[in-house]
Amino acid sequence: KCVVHWFKRDLRLHDNRALALASNMAHKAGIPLVCMFFVSPQDYEAHVVSPRKVDFELRSLAIVKADLEELGIPLYTTTIEDRTLVPKHVMEKAKAWGAKHVTCNIEYEVDELRRETKLVQSCLKEGIDFNALHDDAVVPPGALKSGSGSQYAVYTPWYKSWAKHLAAHPHLLAASDPPAPNPAEAKEIFREIFALPLPEAPLNKILAKDEKERMASLYPAGEHEAVARLERFVEERISKYKDTRDLPALHNTSILSIHFSAGTLSARAAVRLAQASSPKFKTDLTAGPQGPTVWISEVAWRDFYKHVLCHWPYVCMSKAFKPSTSLIKWDYNPKLFAAWREGRTGFPFVDAAMRQLAHTGWMHNRARMVVASFLAKDLLLDWRLGERYFMLQLVDGDFGSNNGGWGFSASVGVDPQPYFRIFNPLLQSEKFDADGSYIRKWVPELAGVEGKAIHDPYGRGAGAKAKKAGYPPPCVVHKEMREKALQRYKDVLKAN
Ligand code: FAD
Repeated sequence: KCVVHWFKRDLRLHDNRALALASNMAHKAGIPLVCMFFVSPQDYEAHVVSPRKVDFELRSLAIVKADLEELGIPLYTTTIEDRTLVPKHVMEKAKAWGAKHVTCNIEYEVDELRRETKLVQSCLKEGIDFNALHDDAVVPPGALKSGSGSQYAVYTPWYKSWAKHLAAHPHLLAASDPPAPNPAEAKEIFREIFALPLPEAPLNKILAKDEKERMASLYPAGEHEAVARLERFVEERISKYKDTRDLPALHNTSILSIHFSAGTLSARAAVRLAQASSPKFKTDLTAGPQGPTVWISEVAWRDFYKHVLCHWPYVCMSKAFKPSTSLIKWDYNPKLFAAWREGRTGFPFVDAAMRQLAHTGWMHNRARMVVASFLAKDLLLDWRLGERYFMLQLVDGDFGSNNGGWGFSASVGVDPQPYFRIFNPLLQSEKFDADGSYIRKWVPELAGVEGKAIHDPYGRGAGAKAKKAGYPPPCVVHKEMREKALQRYKDVLKAN
């Protein structure tokens, strides 16, 4: 007999709702807890999970396994080639181990919800109690409703309601205990599981050796690292967050997105620690000092996009949140798409950002907005190409935030901002990288370009220098493309 917890995107022992429930049930009944995790190559394919993210997850899994072992808790892992067989496998193992309870945390995307529904049905048939818990979002999707009783499609009123809800339900921010140690005999009963090696990444997700080493040094995995990083951020940088968060050269954001998306850190823990930085937060998460208040509101964006995909699940199926925008006529231009991907557009800020992504698997939020807007509105390429490319590169790839960010930037998503407000890449560069240090770091061809010419070398008298260094001229004229984009959006809006 035992209780089973199924790990997915919740690779941590602390503050994990479903794991804590499983441990409690096991402890009360005096029976062991057994954990499981599956590598599902078809899910990686279907959801465009990047090799970098798979690598980060598997490095984190190794830490989960080691930490569980110290508590005498076995972690069963295997690769399941056919993703439709995952629920059957969970059941078979639970039955073989004599489990009466299985727990997991809910993933809100459509495929995952369907998979869990299957599991609920088969567990019912077998007399196994299946508990899928809210854990990933601080406020569970479905908990907030606008005055008219519907889901908010605009962030600001949603955020006010989010903060109010947490003030009224403080238990949502409370930490869950890590699992208790297993009874001593579990070591012997589950000997074979303890002896299992960790699963390997599927062949098409294996990183080259140098890339693997770079990722490991940039992003140490696991929850201990996540908590230490969070504590350092809150201690040293959160107070400056409001004033510096938009400046990509400064490295002043938390870079915790990797941990949130693998579940090595709970969003709850992040909000809780930021909240503890000031007594003013006690009753209102919007009322503290500016740095932590703004940071909490950014963590809330992550929740917001999860709520959106639950209420409008068609966004999981390559459809824009604003259905009318699916009629926008996009160009087909592989050369421009390649220039964008490779950071050779001739727009230095855009190129710096795309090279940062290619090299590190992470990009600053301001830069993500600029390059996404650039793809849709300056190159007139379908935003879904960019959404997919991001997922293939990002180590923090998260469907909700990525889809939401692309929808926002391409004016096809949940965003009250009108489509005719189009980012000017040059102005964005001047405003958010005023001294050009972000550009100089990522576009070494321009390292010798001085002053304001760094933002637009060909337009500001440094063209010869840039050309000599092999940096290309702008691939499009912003003003012209802006007019074209406006027309394309207008055509669609008129037709509706
Ligand atoms: P911080 O500034 O320290 O913020 C703390 C946390 O708040 C982040 O870790 C993140 O979880 C959350 N957050 C901050 N800004 C946003 C936002 N705009 N939307 C949603 N959550 C936010 N984030 C991802 O985690 N995965 C993605 O795949 C992803 N794709 C994006 C694509 C586009 C086009 C855009 C515009 C944004 C995307 N974001 C994505 C959101 C945001 O850019 C990153 O979360 C942020 O840059 C991560 O850096 P950080 O951890 O230092 O953030």
